[in-house]
Amino acid sequence: MIFDIHTHWFDEEIAASPAGWAGQNSEPHFGALMGGNKLQSFKSIDDFLRDMDAAEVERAAIQGWYFENSANCRRWNRRAYAAVKKHSDRLCAFASVNCASSDFEGVLSEAFEMGFKGAGELHDGVQGFSFGSAQFDEFCACCAEKNFAICLHLSDPRGRDYPNKVATQNSPAFDAARRNKSAKFLFAHFGGGEVFAENFSPPENVFYDCAANTFLYGAAAYKKLPDSVMEKFAFGSDYSLRLYPRKYKTAEMREFAAENAAAVQKKFSQKFFRGNFEMLVG
Ligand SMILES: [Zn+2]
Repeated sequence: MIFDIHTHWFDEEIAASPAGWAGQNSEPHFGALMGGNKLQSFKSIDDFLRDMDAAEVERAAIQGWYFENSANCRRWNRRAYAAVKKHSDRLCAFASVNCASSDFEGVLSEAFEMGFKGAGELHDGVQGFSFGSAQFDEFCACCAEKNFAICLHLSDPRGRDYPNKVATQNSPAFDAARRNKSAKFLFAHFGGGEVFAENFSPPENVFYDCAANTFLYGAAAYKKLPDSVMEKFAFGSDYSLRLYPRKYKTAEMREFAAENAAAVQKKFSQKFFRGNFEMLVG
């Protein structure tokens, strides 16, 4: 049984014209990233569930997007809530929120009322906040109070560039997690590659995912990680990103799940495919 902690979904209006929507709603990064992006599929919730069935994915968490404007975060949250609530046995969602905006508490409270399970993913470079700021600590405290896991998009400065890649401050993100012990974190994309560092000491309250890994390190990379990191890894795909663009015309889940099942050692597979998802979202 597979649980996927890192997926994406967008409502029909965005899916119909990502660049057009972004232009009208002052989301330049989203527009640049998604506008001409042939790697991104946009799926209806019904297709989403069908792809889950085909991959034997029992539950999935839909991550919010790191929109720059609070109004767009709130809007996405309402649409995601409407999409997820009919399928709450299989789907849950993390809230879109920008902790740089003064109303983040209101956004989190609304999300909590709607039954969201976490906050994120967040992107410090795109959203314009600092992991070292007092505001980020307040944000963490607010999430901890709601038992919201915080998902951060971390990108690897050593990794290959892709169009519209924006840097993230990875080491300050780890410092923030160590400082905010009552909060729990999901550091996406192998924590921006920090997990491979020789003297890396994993914070107790941080989990990791393998989202988009076909474009990052490949499944063989798990062999390079110490047990203490593997124990905190959760399966996350980044669906509906097309992870195998040469092989499939549209996003699917099955291949990535199978590739990971073959690569992850048996002793970690329960936590990887299910246990750590439950630790993060309950
Ligand atoms: Zn993502």
